[in-house]
Amino acid sequence: MSSGTTDAVLLHDYLTEIEDFLSNYRDGSGRQKYRELVRRMILEDRYDIEISFIDIVNYNPKLAEEYIVKDPEAAIAKFAEAVRHIIEIEYPEHLDRIPRIVPRFRDIPLLYKIRDIRSSLISRLIAVEGIVVRATPPKQKMTEALFMHECGGEAYVPVAGDIIDKPMMCPICQRSGGSWRLIEERSRYRDFQRIVIQEKPEEMPAGRMPRSLEVDVYDVLVDAARPGDRVIVVGILKLRGGGAKRVKSLYDVFLEANNVVVSQRLLEEIDITKEDEERIRELAKDPLIRRKIIASIAPAIHGLWDLKEAIALLLFGGNQKVLQDGTKVRGDIHVLVIGDPGTAKSQLLQYVSRIAPRAIYTTGKGATAAGLTAAVIREKQSGEYYLEAGALVLADGGIACIDEIDKMRDEDRVAIHEAMEQQTISIAKAGIVARLNARTSVLAAGNPRYGRYLPSRSITENVNLPPTILSRFDLIFVIKDVPNPERDARLARHISTVHSLSEAIKPFIDIETLRKYIAFARKYVKPTLTDEARRMLENFFIEMRKKSLETPESPITITARQYEALIRLAEAHSKMALKNEVTEEDAAEAIRLMKSMLESVGIDVESGEIDIDTIMTGKPKSQREKMLIIEEIVRNLSAAEGCAKIKNIIGKTREQNIDDKFVEEALNKMRREGLIYQVKEGCFAPVA
Ligand code: ADP
Ligand code: ZN
Ligand code: MG
Repeated sequence: MSSGTTDAVLLHDYLTEIEDFLSNYRDGSGRQKYRELVRRMILEDRYDIEISFIDIVNYNPKLAEEYIVKDPEAAIAKFAEAVRHIIEIEYPEHLDRIPRIVPRFRDIPLLYKIRDIRSSLISRLIAVEGIVVRATPPKQKMTEALFMHECGGEAYVPVAGDIIDKPMMCPICQRSGGSWRLIEERSRYRDFQRIVIQEKPEEMPAGRMPRSLEVDVYDVLVDAARPGDRVIVVGILKLRGGGAKRVKSLYDVFLEANNVVVSQRLLEEIDITKEDEERIRELAKDPLIRRKIIASIAPAIHGLWDLKEAIALLLFGGNQKVLQDGTKVRGDIHVLVIGDPGTAKSQLLQYVSRIAPRAIYTTGKGATAAGLTAAVIREKQSGEYYLEAGALVLADGGIACIDEIDKMRDEDRVAIHEAMEQQTISIAKAGIVARLNARTSVLAAGNPRYGRYLPSRSITENVNLPPTILSRFDLIFVIKDVPNPERDARLARHISTVHSLSEAIKPFIDIETLRKYIAFARKYVKPTLTDEARRMLENFFIEMRKKSLETPESPITITARQYEALIRLAEAHSKMALKNEVTEEDAAEAIRLMKSMLESVGIDVESGEIDIDTIMTGKPKSQREKMLIIEEIVRNLSAAEGCAKIKNIIGKTREQNIDDKFVEEALNKMRREGLIYQVKEGCFAPVA
């Protein structure tokens, strides 16, 4: 018996089985799920259909494991054929509208890590988890090349891989020789993109280089995932054609995508069971829970209590807010440590990157070409341009621990402003235009510019970072390594104890529990600000500002950025104990930390006054401030002209960089609240 017949019988069998599955599989509610999906395909004019692998496993495990996994190319073709049959029978009039049918598989239970991909998997259908780090711009990939023979005869040749072969024989003159010309404009193409996925940072073994895998995507999958997205790619593992150009075995294989499923992004990916939740809630009842959490952060590092508290607050984070005008105020807390060499900064950052539910440790120079933000890079071998995600994008939804931030590259110095405030990174270069998400908390450490922190100079002089970047940190700490015999003795004792123990000092709360606790709080706890807490924060804010007004030459002590930071810190402090409300105790702690920061870094060396302007430049405006400005403009204009014309108001607010739409909404709000009234069409005056 020839193997050809065996194959034919086998394939025939599977086509029957596939048709049986598609027609008769019923989901939990008894519906014929795939008939329904085919109907929707017709309605929505799509040519692809998503098929759940688990459904197949449940219905016909042999079909799933023996056929689809082991011979995916044939299986995909057979599924397409089976779907076509259903359409032929049920919607014959639509058949020509669908030239091609693409079945896409999803929900494959076995997920491979990039690190675990072996050559035994070549030609198989596998699902791989990773994070998209690079993507080329969309391109057109030739799938069928049209050649014209010297006699005028034409022939289409399918293109597999990267090489275009000439036709074997001319269909007109039947010769195999002679010259052929490729007719590019009449060849056939598909949308194409090459992406690179990388191991998820939290899954990378500590201290190892991340592994990556190239993925070829076609059609609707092009641009389905952006750099920074966490994805599950279902595809066929293939060898890159063209021979031994590359030696490293991992780069010889690539995945031809059959499906790309973008994971829910900000969902914490930590499993929290019912028992975990009970334990977490029990822990939270402890009146000393916050101190225990803080003490559990890097217990081997002596002292630095306030810094550890700030890190704890950063781990929990505040609540993101969306203002009426649609602008978002970040909930993520950024903390900067400037410290003398050897003050355990690096150790602290590395520790945090290990305990946080999702975190990346990197240095200012960046571990990859993309650095801290993102870059368009040109790959040497292929000459292709790629958009590559940097640390802040890869840590989206988590924490970026950036060591030696003062050494960051110039490109990052520019891009990091947007990343830290708007939490996006925009890039437009070499035909690539993109905006990537970077909803990331930054915990950064830097060394003083002159080797040691000079107390006689201001923070801006001491650190090689512009004020615009410094002002984006909620809290800044300065660690000076001043000899202090008493403290040094304690430190020495502490370090020698640590070193004499075979294991690290046991934290109050073990890392696994702490990580779950944090993940739980970040996901489920959104404390609201009580009136008392708000008043307290406002009073502090107003008092600090007033102080600077009393002495006219004294600069502004605090800006709206600090007010937002205060709220975030108070929220995080409340979250740490899983509270539903932000109360006065939380506000007081936020104020204490802010004050200590202002005193440690904000002192104006000249006047001795607390001068936040030494860290801040420009004057960002909170919503409250903008409202006040608008109110004042209306008052001034109507004093001069009887009433304030909307055109004139907008003229003034634009000078203050206030969005027109915000002004319009603010005027409406002020009218509703009876602060202003309309004297005549489009002209306003204050009520009192
Ligand atoms: P930095 O990054 O600030 O230059 P490192 O993190 O490299 O410093 O720390 C240098 C060494 O000094 C580490 O081995 C660290 O454990 C030790 N060290 C410094 N300060 C402390 C401290 N407060 N407690 C415990 N160890 C410390
Ligand atoms: Zn010919
Ligand atoms: Mg260091």
